[in-house]
Order: sequence, then C-alpha cells, then structure tokens
Amino acid sequence: MNLLKHDYSYLFRLLVTGVILLAGITLPISGQVTLRYASNETVTWQEAIDMYQWLDDQYEDARLLEIGWTDAGRPLHLFVIDRGRQFSPQEIRESGKSILFINNGIHPGEPCGVDASLKLASDLLSGKDSCAHYLDHTVIAIVPIFNVGGALNRGSFHRANQNGPLEHGFRGNARNLDLNRDFIKLDSRNTQSLVPLLRSWDPDIFVDTHTSNGSDYPYTITLINSHSQRHEPSQARFLDSTLLPFLFEGMDRSPYLMSPYVWSYKRTPDQGIIAFMDYPRYTSGYVSLYNTLAFTVETHMFKSFEDRVLSTWHLLRETLRFSGLYGSALAEVKRAAWQEKMMRQEFTLQWKLDTSRSDTINFSGYEVKQRKSKVTGQQNYYFDRSAPWEKEIPYYKYFKPIITASVPEYYIVPSAWGEVVERLQLNGVKMDQLSSDSIMELDIYYIESYKTVDRPYNGHYRHYDVETRELRDKVQLLAGDWIIPSKQRAIEYLVQTLEPKGYDSFFSWNFFDEVLFRNEYFSPYIFEETAEDLLKNDPDLKKEFKEKKKEDSKFAENGYQQLRFIYERSPWSESTYMRYPVYRLNR
Ligand SMILES: [Zn+2]
Repeated sequence: MNLLKHDYSYLFRLLVTGVILLAGITLPISGQVTLRYASNETVTWQEAIDMYQWLDDQYEDARLLEIGWTDAGRPLHLFVIDRGRQFSPQEIRESGKSILFINNGIHPGEPCGVDASLKLASDLLSGKDSCAHYLDHTVIAIVPIFNVGGALNRGSFHRANQNGPLEHGFRGNARNLDLNRDFIKLDSRNTQSLVPLLRSWDPDIFVDTHTSNGSDYPYTITLINSHSQRHEPSQARFLDSTLLPFLFEGMDRSPYLMSPYVWSYKRTPDQGIIAFMDYPRYTSGYVSLYNTLAFTVETHMFKSFEDRVLSTWHLLRETLRFSGLYGSALAEVKRAAWQEKMMRQEFTLQWKLDTSRSDTINFSGYEVKQRKSKVTGQQNYYFDRSAPWEKEIPYYKYFKPIITASVPEYYIVPSAWGEVVERLQLNGVKMDQLSSDSIMELDIYYIESYKTVDRPYNGHYRHYDVETRELRDKVQLLAGDWIIPSKQRAIEYLVQTLEPKGYDSFFSWNFFDEVLFRNEYFSPYIFEETAEDLLKNDPDLKKEFKEKKKEDSKFAENGYQQLRFIYERSPWSESTYMRYPVYRLNR
C-alpha cells in the first residue's frame, strides 16, 4: 500500500460517505467490517478479504498480504496487525515482540473464528477494544480463511450436526483434502504456502479455530492444547501451570463456559474425558515441533452461531492479553525449550494413553438416557438437557511413549526422493549435497513388515504397525544426495518424518512405497540348479531351509515357495527391496 493510493481511497470513502449521508441512507461502505453473526450468518471468502483490505486501507498498523496460492486457484492471505508497522517477521522478532498467529477456516463449515477474528481485528484497530494496548508487545497475524476452496463451496447442508450459520463452507478443500491432516504430507498448495510462512513467522502462540462434533454439554467452547508431553520440559511446565490456567480463568470471567476438549473415555463424558494427542499432521502438532505453543479451539455445535463467534472472540482476546502480559516469560521458556530440544538424544514417535493415571476435573454434563427411536424402532441414547449434572470426572491426559527413535548425527536422503526433499526445503531444513559419488558406511533400516489401510485416507493408503530391522552396511551414494545435520531447528521435524515408524512419517504417508516392490525376479526352471549349488555351499542356509520344510507343511508341498525362499536369501535377490532409502550416519 503506498501513501498515494491510501490518500485516494480515503478521499473516495469521504465522498461516498457524504453521498450516502446526503441521501439519508445508512448502507455500509463496500468492504467495511459489518458482521452478521447475530443473524446466524458468516461472511463469504470475498467479504472477509474485502473487509481485511478495508482495514488495511484504513489503518497504518494493519496490512493484508498475499502469501501464496491455494488449490482453488485463489491466493492465500495473511492479515497482520503491527503497531511498529514493520510487517516482516524478522524485524518483529528483533523488536522483541511476541507473535500471536490465528488460523481460521481450515474447516470452513466451522467458521466461528473467521467472524471472531474480523471482530477482533476491527475492534483492536479502531481502539474500541480495551485490549488494544497489548498490541504494544504483541503482533497478531491472522489467516482470514485457510481453506479457500472449502469456503467457496458454500451451502446450507454441509454440517448435519451443527446449529448454523445459515450458509457455510465445506470441510474438504478444492482437492477434497482435510487440510488439518496435511501438515506433513503437504499435498495441498494451501499447506505448501502456509508451512514456509509459519517457519518464517515462528509464532509464540498459534490458535486454530473450529467447531466440535460429539456429545452435548453446557460448555460453549472447549480447548485442545498442543499436548504438553510433546513439548520440551520447560515449555510443558509453563503451558500446564501458567498459560492454561490463565486462559481458563480468563474465560471464567467471560459470559462463556470453557472446558478442556470433550473426547469421552467411554461413550459419554460422565466416565471421564481424554486429552487429545496432536500428532504432527495437525496444525497444533506441527507447530509444536518447533516450540510454538498451540491451541485448537472447538466451540460447541449446538450453541448459537453468535455465541460461538463471541466465545471464540473472548478466547482470542484472552490469548492476546496473555501474550501482552507474559511476553518476556514466553520468550524465555521458548529459549529454554530450544536448548532442551537441541540436547535431545531421542524423541517419542508414538504414544499410548495411560489409563492407569488421571487427574480429576469438575465437569458439567447432561444425563444420558435411552429412548425408542421413532425412525428405526431401536433404542437410541440422547442427552437430556432438563437433567444437568455437575461432578468430578477423571481427565485422562497422560500418555506413555510406545515407540521412540534416537537422534542420529545426520540423515542422508538420496536426491532421487525429490518430493521428500521439496517438503524438507519448505520446512527450511538446512542440508548439503554430496559433491561426488561415494560409498559410505551407514545405518540402514529394512522394512520387515507393515500394515496398510483398506481405503485411502486423505488421498493416501497409509501404512501403520511398521516393523524394521537395522544394520550397518556400505551404501553407494551419488553426487547430489542430501546430507542433513540433525542439530538444527528442524531436529524434531526430521526425526518424526524420516524415522519410518513415526506416526506421521513420510513412510507412513506413502512417500517411499517404491521400495516395497521387487523389480527383479527368478524363473523356477532356470534357478533350480543355482538353488542346488547354494544349498550345497552354504550349510547355514541348508539348515534353515530344512527346518522351514519340517515346520511348515504347506511350504514343504510348494516347490515355487521353496525356490523363492532360497532366491530371497541369495546374492541375486535385490538388496534395495524393502530397504528404507533414508540412511542414518553416526561417526
Ligand atoms: Zn474442525
């Protein structure tokens, strides 16, 4: 925005305002922030962008940036409020301010945060909001609507279990991807645009706004925090003992009740609720790999849209207030967390809920009762709002690590795996290319076994229950292959994505499926004599073969299987079959 353009638009608005006043009507000026959530309506994508553009034109402390592209063929925007008027993450960071990053409309059917952020931005910039002075210490960055394609797919029937707004967007993006599963695989252009942005802005606090599904209860708003066990100890302590209590106490003073996210341990909340383990596919799980404290706000689907917007707005204000009051503590624990992360010898790749441990929380719910369905004639449960209860329930928030991986000095990714390399680059991973072909002694994984889902999940036939065998051997590397030191800001990102057993590893998301295929094979009639020689010259193989025949009667009757058994243990069997193509180097 240059000054000249700004002056012109200002004069134009004065003129339009004059004409409207003269005409005696009060039409909103195009783009002005006029929200309709009280009438159960949310803004369209175009309206949201126009309103942010209007704020940009109106206020020198605000700027609307185009920061990349989306699958819908429209740009992705970021709206920044910075009293220092720098608008560049590097300069903001140097000024010592905290960065609060708010992501909206990842699920456009859940648009409370879209309207709440517009209200927040508009009221802060106009000075109407008493929290405006916290902007002296905090810069706010808002993604107006992340899933642009989903927001353009507007209708009234995308959310069967939700009370409005009248029209809303769809969960899938223009490619039908759920973008809140896309932060490692990066299938969408939306996420490919946002991830480098998150790396350069490196927020202190990140908030993703949603509406929940599930049980019925009195709370208007619920909160998922990036799981403290996934944070470094100093940040985990700060999250549990300072930040979370601050937000819950703040919301106690608002008109809206807030609860931890309600994910029932059994069918309904009265027997306890479980903390959400946010793996890196989710926004909060992804940003917390880089020591950003993150929240997923889930308003309750049956409450009015107005209450959902306003409760989200209250929570965003409380988050801003925290950031303004605790800016130096936030920076301090983040510094400590980076020291701790860099010292890590291992990371947990997969967790399991520890059902033997729980905290106790006070919870308000509705009695669950049974009634006969008029549609099916079968018994169905329902929440009886005329029978509220309040009692202490268990809060299962502790997880046990079940799979861990040590941190190697280096990972080596052959340049052949370009799609993986591109994703590492989008994450700002520092890496060097080998200048010449060389043979190196490396730690190698062979994939021993894995399971695969029957139906594609977000475009992928995901693998799980991966078992590996590890060995050290010489590997031929080529000039251009990538050597990646682990001791860098992406340390945890590298371990979580490059270790094949990682819950959201590149292996699990099918980036290395090519190695699960044999290129070469044998013809039984030709291999017969070779097999005979192999058994003659290798007593261990002969013993293993005999035992297998004795133990496995089907095998003993199947000539092809027997030859294959010998082929797979022979030098002719390709060594790259099932060999995981990312290597670990420890010197
Ligand atoms: Zn959602």
